[in-house]
Amino acid sequence: MSPNNAKIVFSGIRPTGSAHLGNYVGALRNWVKLQDEYRCIFSIVTWHALSSDYENARGIKDNVFEVACDLLGLGLDPDRCTLFVQSDVKEHAELHLLLSMYTPLPWVERVPTFKEMQQELADRDIYTYGFLGYPVLQTADIILYKAEVVPVGEDQASHLELAREITRRFNRMVGPIFPEPQILLTEVPRLAGTDGRKMSKSFGNAVYLKDPAETVRQKISTMTTDTRRKRRSDPGEPDDCPVFTLHRAFVDKATRENLAAECRRAGIGCLECKKVVIDSLETLLGPFREKRARFENDPRRVWDILASGGEKARAAARKTMEEVRAGLGF
Ligand code: SF4
Repeated sequence: MSPNNAKIVFSGIRPTGSAHLGNYVGALRNWVKLQDEYRCIFSIVTWHALSSDYENARGIKDNVFEVACDLLGLGLDPDRCTLFVQSDVKEHAELHLLLSMYTPLPWVERVPTFKEMQQELADRDIYTYGFLGYPVLQTADIILYKAEVVPVGEDQASHLELAREITRRFNRMVGPIFPEPQILLTEVPRLAGTDGRKMSKSFGNAVYLKDPAETVRQKISTMTTDTRRKRRSDPGEPDDCPVFTLHRAFVDKATRENLAAECRRAGIGCLECKKVVIDSLETLLGPFREKRARFENDPRRVWDILASGGEKARAAARKTMEEVRAGLGF
């Protein structure tokens, strides 16, 4: 349990479906650790999901349940963190609206991940007012709880920079209400999907945490490798091999270095090399699947956890919004 004077951390996950290995190494494995050091507030950010999935709004609630089962199965503990659904706390929307009045348009237009996400979600029309404003909503999510620390990977650092700029401007114009959130830079290893591109739900190349063992085995066994290794006798280069990004994330250093050396001298076949990562993943995912299934089979418990997290979050959010409204003279 983190001490009461520990710093407040905020982080969110979009409920766009079950979590995959990329989400795990990019954020979730860190969330589990952060619970011991910080006062953690974790949100399943439904309105962010709506900004890209507005045509399938009714599917979002099912995804909330999926993601909640993933998070609880991984070890988020409602006694050690606040876990809630963003749209259960309407103050996020109010603060987002207010911040949007203070955010110059060019600030949001220049966010580099905006273009990147447009490419990743090329099958959807996300050229909307709501999607452009999502970094402002993100800022509201963070500062509503006066979070001092936000764990982000390098690729997301520009978002947090923007959040800090918006916070500074709001504090200057309305009153010193919010701490400026600090970046807790998290190492986010790039994880390739089964086709060699970045692992992503939208690319259909993801290995999901809840995938059965046989599915994980099948997905990785057929995964793209270094193209130099056409025959078993051809040496390869692990640095150019998508599978090896999984080794970097899930296999211990000594084993990994040995495999890399063997790959370079064609001393090992790709299937054998893949088996090592499949086994490592099973050590992680086997116990996870069991724990997750206990939550999945008890939906009442999951919704109760989210509801009581929502109450806790709402109490803090209401307090902040009283200060904000007073600052605005409303
Ligand atoms: S041996 Fe391993 S690292 Fe080398 S190309 Fe095959 S799967 Fe990739």
